Amino acid sequence: MNADIPLFVGVDVGGTNIKVGIVDDEGRTVAQTKFPTIADKEPSHSIEKAKQSIEKLLEESGRSLDDVAAVGLGTPGPMDIEAGVILTPSNLPAWRNAPVRDLLAKATGKPVTYANDAAAASFGEYWIGSGRQFGSLVLITLGTGVGGGIIVNDFSIDGAHSHGAEIGHVTIDTSESARRCPCGTMGHLEAYASATAVVARCSEALSGGAKSLLTAEMGEASPLSALMISQAANQGDELSLSIIDETAKYLGRGIATLAHVIDPEVFILGGAMDFGGSASHVGRQFIDGVIAETKKIVFPVLAEKLVVRYAELGGDAGFVGAAGLARTEYLKRKNA
Ligand SMILES: [Zn+2]
Repeated sequence: MNADIPLFVGVDVGGTNIKVGIVDDEGRTVAQTKFPTIADKEPSHSIEKAKQSIEKLLEESGRSLDDVAAVGLGTPGPMDIEAGVILTPSNLPAWRNAPVRDLLAKATGKPVTYANDAAAASFGEYWIGSGRQFGSLVLITLGTGVGGGIIVNDFSIDGAHSHGAEIGHVTIDTSESARRCPCGTMGHLEAYASATAVVARCSEALSGGAKSLLTAEMGEASPLSALMISQAANQGDELSLSIIDETAKYLGRGIATLAHVIDPEVFILGGAMDFGGSASHVGRQFIDGVIAETKKIVFPVLAEKLVVRYAELGGDAGFVGAAGLARTEYLKRKNA
């Protein structure tokens, strides 16, 4: 591949894996790899491994660190972006209060831009993914939890204390019977629309006696998952279809609030739970359901302009976006 220099490196730290990618000036991935996060040891071990991976990828591509202008690092929060410190990550207890940005800068000898992992993924979609023709977007990731990021004009909206864009914790239910969010508060979006919540809602319906194809498929070796619900829905299973339809309504309520507050050009749905995405009938029906519910709640002028799409970059969004944020900082420094 004819990569445009300078190159940028993106490092996307997750609770299970760390993804490392070399990205060119146009956002094209030159090379990428991943390795298991060393979660039970202080982060210097994982950072050293990341540095070795970067050097190996560059060497295999016939490049060197000299071709790299800057590095982007995305980690789960909570974090202090300005200080470059990861605070109290739930999946990485040994990383508590570690100066991860400076550790990576020291290891690579490059300036490092630090970002929330969801913000990085949002920037990836904004730069070269399904948000590329838009000037602003909100990404909502539906996975184990509900996360997200907000990008406006090349800028990630992280908030004054690095705790902004917590889209999963928008309140959508204030009733007495509201579900409890993993954060401890009642009625947050994440308690309804994460994969965990979808499985919980479906399990409750099954325990209540609802008939479903899922009953035959579930067993000790295959506990209920959002993917099973998605597959059963594609086979016409009524319970699964109704669970997904309800999920679309809950998500629509969250999006309506965000539309009134932020009014982005596009909402992008990412994360592992996409019900087959735009390639599947159920996936398209899910987006249609989200749009229909949102339109019921927002101002008619907002409803007219509402755009909701699936993300395009999958698991690459995090490292591509981290590299993209590093590139934006680099260009700012260069043009200053
Ligand atoms: Zn919450």
